[in-house]
Amino acid sequence: GCGICVHKCPFNAITIVNLPEELEEGCVHRYGVNAFVLYRLPVVKDGMVVGILGPNGTGKTTAVKILAGQLLPNLCGDNESWDNVIRAFRGNELQTYFERLRDGEIRPVVKPQYVDLIPKAVKGKVRDLLKRADEVGAFDDVVRELELENVLDRDIKHLSGGELQRVAIAAAILRKAHFYFFDEPSSYLDIRQRLKVARIIRKLADSGKSVLTVEHDLAVLDYLSDVIHVVYGKPGAYGIFSQPKGTRNGINEFLRGYLRDENVRFRPYEIRFTKSSERQSQASDVLVQYPRLVKDYGGFKLEVEPGELYMGEVVSIVGPNGIGKTTFVKMLAGVEEPTKGEVDWELKVSYKPQYIKADYEGTVYELLSRIDAAKLLNSFYKTELLNPLGIPDLYDKQVNELSGGELQRVAITAALIRDADLYLLDEPSAYLDVEQRLAVSRAIRHLMEKEGKTALVVEHDVLMIDYISDRLMVFEGEPGRHGRALPPMGMREGMNRFLASVGITFRREPETGRPRANKEGSVKDREQKEMGEYYYVS
Ligand code: ADP
Ligand code: ADP
Ligand code: MG
Repeated sequence: GCGICVHKCPFNAITIVNLPEELEEGCVHRYGVNAFVLYRLPVVKDGMVVGILGPNGTGKTTAVKILAGQLLPNLCGDNESWDNVIRAFRGNELQTYFERLRDGEIRPVVKPQYVDLIPKAVKGKVRDLLKRADEVGAFDDVVRELELENVLDRDIKHLSGGELQRVAIAAAILRKAHFYFFDEPSSYLDIRQRLKVARIIRKLADSGKSVLTVEHDLAVLDYLSDVIHVVYGKPGAYGIFSQPKGTRNGINEFLRGYLRDENVRFRPYEIRFTKSSERQSQASDVLVQYPRLVKDYGGFKLEVEPGELYMGEVVSIVGPNGIGKTTFVKMLAGVEEPTKGEVDWELKVSYKPQYIKADYEGTVYELLSRIDAAKLLNSFYKTELLNPLGIPDLYDKQVNELSGGELQRVAITAALIRDADLYLLDEPSAYLDVEQRLAVSRAIRHLMEKEGKTALVVEHDVLMIDYISDRLMVFEGEPGRHGRALPPMGMREGMNRFLASVGITFRREPETGRPRANKEGSVKDREQKEMGEYYYVS
């Protein structure tokens, strides 16, 4: 081995090599004695989208604040001037960038991560907000491209998460700037919206702007970026930006857990995507048959075709926003009454809602131990669920003080330790970084396989869908008006059906088996559409 492996991450499976000595040179900012330290910075290039891939708490936002001129880096000493920063980056591509920043020639625009907080800061109608933002005179184009026509006259405080996200992206694009930063632009969006947003952000770079983005949906990051940086380190302690890497290669190195140029292994195992035909499916016994169900809200109507679920399988639910996925899951959970049909089974159901409330008074440990204290001591649950999700580190925290990502991990854990026959998880990846998404995916798979239980998972992240699903449930229709839930079907049939309606094709990356979106109109895209093979599963 390297002989210098020392640090342990909160996710205890991850070991990080110690800092090589030469890195001391790349020390950019230290928040204080024994506080977080940032090493190196990402490149910023006109006409390019630079993607950042890395866990939460490793300095991505810190780096962006520096590049945006909001934080003067102390260079891990007592630096107080931009001139010293320019000197420190002499010969580096960032030298000119910092010179221009010092001279006031660079104006940065930032699309923030937590769009849910926007209504607290900005009041009024969407139209007025976007009109005020519009410095480039592209209001009509941007509104059309982001499909915001219907919400222009709506008050910002009445927007859904996905609508807020698109308004925030529109507001950023309408500004006249040189440097644009998009912090997690895909949250709350469905797959079609994610790739659409990716294309719109790419267009900014094509017009010569410099774009930086943090993105945890790997299919989107892949589609969006010209180059990527992997950020590694110990969350909360230090973070190191890798050299810029070609997007395909960088994501592959990330999945392998090994950065070649840096000679750093940051995860002891590789992440592989197996073809579902290779998966040993033990799903055989029927858990339940559910009947035809209808939910009529007046404005929106969902029709569910009858179907059956097997023991030991994971079924992913896919479809656009506003098509009734949450409504279906709520009917199975007994939270909503169907208008027609009946869910009259004897099954025990455990449900994690899409929007989680932190209204519990007490610590994480108290919450979880009240559900099932024995599972917290069980070694299988420790290795497969609690440790990979970093739950023991949260035990002493108050539930109502958790961050979005922490709350999500606790809510998933609470749902999975509950004794049930059927587990319903509505959008478990929201607010999680890639490492956490993969940890959650593995946990769901292993628990269902081992215990012979069944999980239904609503999800938009294609890599996660690919990683966890035995079968798919596709929702079709007209968002906000009517939806139809098809019975669970095989992955190939399901993905073809789903992706055809979205108009996007995927291929498999040969080295890691991960799905990659084809560029629209590329040779592969056209060939696959002609054959009707939107997704390569075999
Ligand atoms: P990321 O964007 O990758 O999630 P951040 O750059 O937001 O990471 O934060 C990296 C680390 O720096 C975190 O542990 C955070 O708590 C710490 N940190 C952020 N801002 C400050 C600050 N002003 N003072 C001290 N520590 C900070
Ligand atoms: P998805 O989970 O696929 O995004 P939902 O099931 O949350 O979709 O919502 C489907 C449609 O039903 C949306 O148009 C939503 O506004 C509407 N809807 C959801 N809950 C209610 C309700 N309680 N009353 C009226 N309409 C609702
Ligand atoms: Mg939903």
